[in-house]
Amino acid sequence: MPLLDDIRTRVEAALEHVDISPDTLELLLHPKAVHTVSIPVRMDDGSLRTFEGHRVLWNDSRGPGKGGIRYHPDVTIDEVKALAFWMTCKCAALDLPFGGAKGGVAVDPKKLSKLELQRLSRGYVDAVADLIGPDVDVPAPDVYTNPMIMGWMMDQYRTITRRIQPGVVTGKPLSMGGSQGRSTATADGAFHVIDTLIGKLGVDAEAPTVAVQGFGNAGAQIATLLHEAGYRVVAVSDSRSAVHAEDGLDVPAVRRAKEGNGSVESVYSEGDLERCGADVLDPDELIALDVDILIPSALENAITADNADDVRARTVFEVANGPVTPEADEILARKDVAVVPDILTNAGGVTVSWFEWVQNRSGLVWSAEEVADKLRGRMVDAAEVIHARASSAGSALRVAAYAHALERIGEAIDAQGSVSTFGAGE
Ligand code: GLU
Repeated sequence: MPLLDDIRTRVEAALEHVDISPDTLELLLHPKAVHTVSIPVRMDDGSLRTFEGHRVLWNDSRGPGKGGIRYHPDVTIDEVKALAFWMTCKCAALDLPFGGAKGGVAVDPKKLSKLELQRLSRGYVDAVADLIGPDVDVPAPDVYTNPMIMGWMMDQYRTITRRIQPGVVTGKPLSMGGSQGRSTATADGAFHVIDTLIGKLGVDAEAPTVAVQGFGNAGAQIATLLHEAGYRVVAVSDSRSAVHAEDGLDVPAVRRAKEGNGSVESVYSEGDLERCGADVLDPDELIALDVDILIPSALENAITADNADDVRARTVFEVANGPVTPEADEILARKDVAVVPDILTNAGGVTVSWFEWVQNRSGLVWSAEEVADKLRGRMVDAAEVIHARASSAGSALRVAAYAHALERIGEAIDAQGSVSTFGAGE
């Protein structure tokens, strides 16, 4: 199913459990603004190369647009639209005062030098400067973008507007108005969701087993947090391979190996595997491991109609955006696998982005403890409310999360009048 059809499927499933006005439905099914831009970049060899970039504002009924910017060779406008829609629902599910947006550039950032990357990032802001702003649409990091890039973007916005406006972008370096806790926020938030829900989802093992697909910022950090909290992380993968050890991996060692040599597999030198009771798998095999918790934390479409039947996990927590397709959702539901949706599980990132934006606009600087406490409170509450809603409606958690989000978006849209206000005869 194309990514964009996902939007209609998700909304339609939620409609059975929430009463929203026709106006809300009409507005939610269409993006408010879609922009594609060309970004000319002077390369180190003197040549000029043009990259295609996008920014989509899906909906801003509840506040300024909010959502990251992704650098990836496979970025397309449809993907950015889907991601912007999910951001709209994520911000509403967590009751953040934002709408939803997303950006992307079709580029393999690993093939650029640091200076080329900087020119591209400043060029992106040159191209979208009229579309973003602290009260309009606020970008942030996403796949393969990071605090340094956000810092360049804020600086470029300052050059263009001749005003220091740190609230134009979140996920900045601490020294440039970033927030404590932002760089680990996605995984920190996911940890609270997992820890709050795992017992309620029927997993009562003392050390639940975990497999993590994707070992980027979020994947490596969630594996670390769960390992430290006594969960048994039995497998992790990157795009090349997966390492698996039934007694549990030494997650800090895997992290060191990934940082040092670029692959999780390099944690084992020759002969080590047997001694450690471990094996190296194809990354696709990780999806089929018999574990309590499966955590897709890479890209969309990791679990599809083609491999959902292979899933043997009891629960799936979506740390990536859109890793389980609607068809796969149905298959997993039939197999009684509980799927905890992205718009809840990975909402810690945008929640701390909100904290950063609040600090930037108030001039306050919060401590790491303050941020951690506030994040925990938000995530635990949202997880409990959405779980309770799913239980009382007898629906999937994803459906409950969407119903919850659509209800809030609907309130904001209807506050200005809807068909029942303006309709004939009233
Ligand atoms: N890219 C992250 C997400 O998908 C964070 C967005 C933000 O902080 O605005 O949720």
